Amino acid sequence: MPNRDVALSQVVSGTAAVATPGALVLGALVLWGGLEPVAALLGFGPLVAALALLTRHQLAILQAVRGYGEDLVGGSAEPPAAARRYGIARDLVAALTKLHRWGRDQIDELRALVETRESVLDSVPDPLLTLDQNGRIVRANLSARLLLGKLLDGRDLSSVLRNPVILDAVAAVLAGGSARVVDLSLSDPVERDFSVGVQPLPMRAPDGTTALLAMHDVTSLRRAEQMRADFVANASHELRTPLASLVGFIETLRGPARDDEDARDRFLGIMQEQATRMGRLVADLLSLSRIELNEHLPPTQAVALDTILATLAATFELQAARRKVRLQVDCPASLPRVVADEDELAQLFQNLIDNALKYGRPGSVVRIAATRPARLPAGFPRAPHGAVAVAVADEGDGIEREHLPRLTERFYRVDPARSKQAGGTGLGLAIVKHIVSRHRGALTIESEVGRGSTFTVFLPAAAAARPGARVAEAGG
Ligand code: ADP
Repeated sequence: MPNRDVALSQVVSGTAAVATPGALVLGALVLWGGLEPVAALLGFGPLVAALALLTRHQLAILQAVRGYGEDLVGGSAEPPAAARRYGIARDLVAALTKLHRWGRDQIDELRALVETRESVLDSVPDPLLTLDQNGRIVRANLSARLLLGKLLDGRDLSSVLRNPVILDAVAAVLAGGSARVVDLSLSDPVERDFSVGVQPLPMRAPDGTTALLAMHDVTSLRRAEQMRADFVANASHELRTPLASLVGFIETLRGPARDDEDARDRFLGIMQEQATRMGRLVADLLSLSRIELNEHLPPTQAVALDTILATLAATFELQAARRKVRLQVDCPASLPRVVADEDELAQLFQNLIDNALKYGRPGSVVRIAATRPARLPAGFPRAPHGAVAVAVADEGDGIEREHLPRLTERFYRVDPARSKQAGGTGLGLAIVKHIVSRHRGALTIESEVGRGSTFTVFLPAAAAARPGARVAEAGG
């Protein structure tokens, strides 16, 4: 705390300043003989003493006001007692108080502004870094900290992003160049692609910020582009094979086998099979694109599962009988209805049951069971009336674990020859996935090699439950 007592030197110099004109007048009078030196001294002594007391008093008031000002800078302060007694001190104290309040309001406003700016920056999903003239990170938003590490402020950018293209772009901008955009791929912890913009800021901020580096995640965009290209290539390939075989048979029938009746019958049979396969493929492709088109619009109907499952069981009766598979449907009518699109739901279960029959062992059982699940998978969104689960379980060869995450990819097949021989298009589970996604549901796949597979679909339940119970069974 600074010394607020009035120093003797201040009193002396203050008194000297105010007493000097009087001293000069008295000195002149003594010199001209108008005043006795003793009388002059006797008069001047008390005058100087009175002036010294007055000066000290005034200086004490000023010191008190100065102390008040210093205390205000430090936080809060009590106005000095002098401010109550002397008008000038009161005015000075009032002016200081006003100035202090104004300053505090300005600081509060600035602080709020900075906090808002920080939270706005933190809520931006793209990682953002501000850089100073030397390429050091001044500030990193939340997204940048999550991507590049917690302690970024003050670090050299080159120690955080060791990518020569980025560093060159930053160096060029810091050297006065214009904004630029470059591509960046990061592989740790997962592969991600970014489009990185580096731009100079119009004014250098007090914290030294000179440039902004913004990283826009384009991974899903690139992946979607790649998937689209792969999909077109795969679909063309799938269509080209039966088409080539059709063209080949037509040429044979018009040429060497023109008069061979046996060959003609055989070839026409194969041609029909290939044409049917193409038809199935085109139908699945159309379904997929139609479902994808509506995927953002969840269905709103309340659909009873027991009716759909019973109808499907009847439809598959013949196919099941051919493979000597028993199809068992268990759907208690006490279950609530589900929020669904009836046609899409029928297609979903049709694909799952078709697979269970295709890949299940002949003579085994395919069980379709609808229940109120005790637990929901992690991906299932919150539904106001809970969920209904429908499991389609077969007793087939099962699927090895490494294939499970990829089964719902378009044209992904564990055993392509077996799928094609069974008439599969490789799109059935992709359609299932998109229907489930449109229904805001979830799909789980469990499988044990040698024992079989269970595909379970979780769907949001509709509001009201229906009375009565029903168990349908079909096949033989
Ligand atoms: P596909 O038309 O080939 O059956 P899907 O999309 O329906 O196409 O299924 C993709 C792949 O998943 C199939 O080729 C098959 O290898 C595997 N698969 C699907 N369902 C089953 C199942 N119930 N049991 C064993 N494998 C299955």
